[in-house]
Amino acid sequence: MRPEILFPLFTPVTSLKGVGPRVAPLLERVAGPLVRDVLWLQPHSLIRRTPATLSAAVDGEIMTFEVQIEDVQISRVAARPTRIRVYDGTGFLTLVFFGAYGGQLEQRHPVNARRIVSGRVEFSQYGLQMVHPDYMVAPDKAAEIPHIEPVYPATEGLPPRRVRGFVQEAQARAPDLPEWQDPAWLAREKFPTWREAIVRLHEPQGEADLSPLAVHRRRLAYDELLAHQLAMAQRKAARRREPAARIPAGDLGNRIRADLPFVFTGAQDRALAEIRSDLAAGERMSRLVQGDVGSGKTVVAMCAMADVAEAGGQSALMAPTEILARQHYETISGPLEAHGIGVVLLTGRDKGAARAEKLQPLATGAARVAVGTHALFQNDVVFQRLQMVVVDEQHRFGVAERQRLQAKGEAVHLIAMSATPIPRTLELTLYGDLDVSRIEEKPPGRTPVATRAAPMNRLEEVIGRLKDAARTGAQAFWICPLVSESELSDLAAAEMRALALRKVIGAGVGLVHGKMAAAEKDAVMADFADGKLSVLVATTVVEVGVNVPNATIMVIEQAERFGLAQLHQLRGRVGRGVRESACVLLYDPPLSETAQQRLDILRRTDDGFLIAERDLELRGGGDALGLRQSGLPDYVFVDAFAHRDLIAVAGDDARLMVGRDPDLTSERGQALRVLQELFDWKAGLALRDAG
Ligand code: ADP
Ligand code: MG
Repeated sequence: MRPEILFPLFTPVTSLKGVGPRVAPLLERVAGPLVRDVLWLQPHSLIRRTPATLSAAVDGEIMTFEVQIEDVQISRVAARPTRIRVYDGTGFLTLVFFGAYGGQLEQRHPVNARRIVSGRVEFSQYGLQMVHPDYMVAPDKAAEIPHIEPVYPATEGLPPRRVRGFVQEAQARAPDLPEWQDPAWLAREKFPTWREAIVRLHEPQGEADLSPLAVHRRRLAYDELLAHQLAMAQRKAARRREPAARIPAGDLGNRIRADLPFVFTGAQDRALAEIRSDLAAGERMSRLVQGDVGSGKTVVAMCAMADVAEAGGQSALMAPTEILARQHYETISGPLEAHGIGVVLLTGRDKGAARAEKLQPLATGAARVAVGTHALFQNDVVFQRLQMVVVDEQHRFGVAERQRLQAKGEAVHLIAMSATPIPRTLELTLYGDLDVSRIEEKPPGRTPVATRAAPMNRLEEVIGRLKDAARTGAQAFWICPLVSESELSDLAAAEMRALALRKVIGAGVGLVHGKMAAAEKDAVMADFADGKLSVLVATTVVEVGVNVPNATIMVIEQAERFGLAQLHQLRGRVGRGVRESACVLLYDPPLSETAQQRLDILRRTDDGFLIAERDLELRGGGDALGLRQSGLPDYVFVDAFAHRDLIAVAGDDARLMVGRDPDLTSERGQALRVLQELFDWKAGLALRDAG
């Protein structure tokens, strides 16, 4: 399948000269297993080898001098170095060579010969010296020393200059590839060809060439984005071609909606309309509904479930934890059952006869909706006619798990729900193969959460206020972050905090942490939700979606260590009822300017998408956002922040291409296939496989 033209790049690194059994694992650690991966290494800095005089030497710098040899002191024992003393009229320098090859050195570099030497100079007790110069050549070979030398990532036992040698060999093997970019776009962006871009990557002309904004780096980033977007667009198109049950917008859904004690927000209306148009189209739906916790995603999905039920099908709503499944069940079972739609809650707690009793109506079709946890995709769960799956917090499930559930029906429609705010600019890189509905509006009547930052030395005051509030029946979350490498010491910190709070507030302080068994955790959470506990101390984000309307206080310790999006999600757990809510961000002073700005954003806005966008701006790309965890692919050339303007263009380009030439058979299409192979981003391998 792989085009022959790529063979030289898709061979193991051992095919490079000098890469034997010792070097191979080191190079693989630095680059990857293939020659392509070596070619893709990126220099992180430059060495300039501009000649200087010895009088201008700076301790510790890499420098270049033109010198004459004064004296060679040969050593014939490995323990003692050979020393070559050189001068240039402004000063003296000693070149130091370890190893018993002094004789050879003297032959190659006889007394009085002129040489250009380059390497790191040091001031030592013996005067100026240079241990093992990087270069030592006769003046007529000066061209062998690059003026600017890129420095590559390296590892113990494999120094940057060896890595550079391998990169150069890989570069020599890089073929000329057919142009896969649109010529008009290339001209507009002044992009070089792929090969030119690769050459410039490895032969930078100055520091500016190391920037992700350099035109050759933008070209490589765009190639990578296009390969990825193309794979996602192909997946999406393939799913569209799969016929699926045509489900019309039903009367039942409308009646259920009319019975709700509130009216939908405009954003909910739009999301439902989009889902309904997907369902009625006769193609398989894969839609992501994005919206903050409490924005009303679940009730939108509920109306779609009613449509499916009315059309004679079944739906399953899957949540990552038991407590969330229970809450979803409580939200939707009342309205659905009031209109004769049977709903079953299935969790890991259901066993034996009780479980069998719940499975039966799903198999016969007497129940039209199943709500549950991982328990839903066990083999013995059989549906009469499963037509739609709704996945809450979809990133917490594996692709295989979701597919196991979808496999219980035929061409099953998918709604994914997510409360993780993603900057709009990155949406395509995460969800390019899904259609997205955003619920950006909050239901009316929610009181904004008063947010303030306070230094740790105000801790006692905060605890005192918490005590007063607890006395009046208020409930609070208290979050302790994962700080150290060791989970155990974090746990200890949370336990200490719970203990300290108990001393002041009393027994109504619970603790949940990641090391607890799921059932135990759920039990403490349930006690909190039922009002049996007034303070819940938690080590990390426990349950993003958990709904405890009576909880009005959120205290977050070491708030500066959390991502903004995460802080926003935590804060979203309060402010759900009519009572005034507060969020206290405790920090260890002093705060850096950026940290201060970040906490300020939270105080100023409650818009999750805006917060995510500002966070990206303040922290730049990289993985500071924990985006990788939420599914951002591990790009080689793309910097999520620096190249954000290219994402949408690549998305449009990919969709256009798939629309025009779905099988990629045109001339550009064939070149694009080479691109996909180059990046290994083929339709079947899209990371965000929505099944
Ligand atoms: P999400 O799934 O986005 O977290 P839910 O659908 O569970 O949100 O809704 C959260 C709470 O808000 C539920 O109790 C729900 O009944 C209520 N709710 C949903 N939509 C509205 C609305 N438009 N107006 C008032 N309350 C709403
Ligand atoms: Mg929810």
